[in-house]
Amino acid sequence: MEKRDYYEILGVSKNATKEEIKKAYRKQAIKFHPDKNPGDKKAEENFKEAAEAYEVLSNEEKKARYDRFGHAGMSGSSGGFSGRDMTMDDIFSSFGDIFGDAFGGFGAFGGSRRGGKRVSKGSNLRVKVKLNLHEVANGAEKKIKVTKYDTCETCGGTGAADAQSMSTCSTCHGSGHVTRLTNTMLGQMQTSSVCPSCGGEGKIITKKCLTCYGEGIVQKEDIIKINIPAGVAKGMQMTVGGKGNAPRRGGVNGDLLVVIDEEDHPDLIREGNDLIFNLFISIPDAILGTHVEVPTVDNNVKIKIDPGTQPGKILRLRGKGLPEVNGYGHGDLLVNVNVWIPKTITREEAKTIEKFRESESFEPKPDKDDKGFFERMRGYFE
Ligand SMILES: [Zn+2]
Ligand SMILES: [Zn+2]
Repeated sequence: MEKRDYYEILGVSKNATKEEIKKAYRKQAIKFHPDKNPGDKKAEENFKEAAEAYEVLSNEEKKARYDRFGHAGMSGSSGGFSGRDMTMDDIFSSFGDIFGDAFGGFGAFGGSRRGGKRVSKGSNLRVKVKLNLHEVANGAEKKIKVTKYDTCETCGGTGAADAQSMSTCSTCHGSGHVTRLTNTMLGQMQTSSVCPSCGGEGKIITKKCLTCYGEGIVQKEDIIKINIPAGVAKGMQMTVGGKGNAPRRGGVNGDLLVVIDEEDHPDLIREGNDLIFNLFISIPDAILGTHVEVPTVDNNVKIKIDPGTQPGKILRLRGKGLPEVNGYGHGDLLVNVNVWIPKTITREEAKTIEKFRESESFEPKPDKDDKGFFERMRGYFE
């Protein structure tokens, strides 16, 4: 079937404002509403057509694409969904609020079971996992103990004691919803609501499963193994699909959401993927040069301190930081060099040091081109 122009469907001009588009859609949606036109296939077509038009025109990006390319711009994976493929439930859950109060308690209707039962999903579980820097650097396999709802094994999630103790609901005849006539500002209207007898299940349980008391789920402790990739950081969240709670009486499980937390390292400070180590060397080592060991995440590495190294110098050890999460490359290890000034010395030492006061070599001769200083200062104010 040839697609009609979206503007034509809603009866608005190309220059219509967001508000005008919304108003126009609301008008169409109410006119072709399935509860005003029960069993009318043509009205349902129109209703879906209007939803599709509104879905595109109410979205700035999609509208711009439609304005440029027409319907051809709407196909493909990024083109959104087609209203004719949308189920009524999709439309109500996306645009249900458009009806406001016009239909009375209509909002609730969006969640009811039109055209077959909707698959219910269990709730998500959220756990926090604390990693040390070693685990962050290398990735980790963690076993997490959770308490969650699982499908009852005795009844297979039905909630019934056996097959004979479950019967079709006589109020709704298994559909899960009931319709009734109400008077609204738009005239008499057929509204649909969740069946009060069966709560929308469509079935009545005469004898409940003794293990789960008819709920279809039981609380259980479970050990869940998760693989955490290297390079994660505090606050990141991983989703493990289907490892959350099971829903009542059948459906799909919720997800397990794993939130990453980090333990502080005694010596290393993390800054993004870089690590910082604050190194102290002695005055003689700074003057004469030396080799020292500095820690990385997994081991120590030896580094050379050149003779005449100034305090505040930052040595960058490339690739000795943390790996990029889901990527290639590593951060660096930044070694901040401090020179330790003794706070107390012996009389003998004082005499020796005194001699250096007069020495030309000990006169400060700062390097005016030392960009490192300004970089460090900038770091403080970021
Ligand atoms: Zn059970
Ligand atoms: Zn019922």
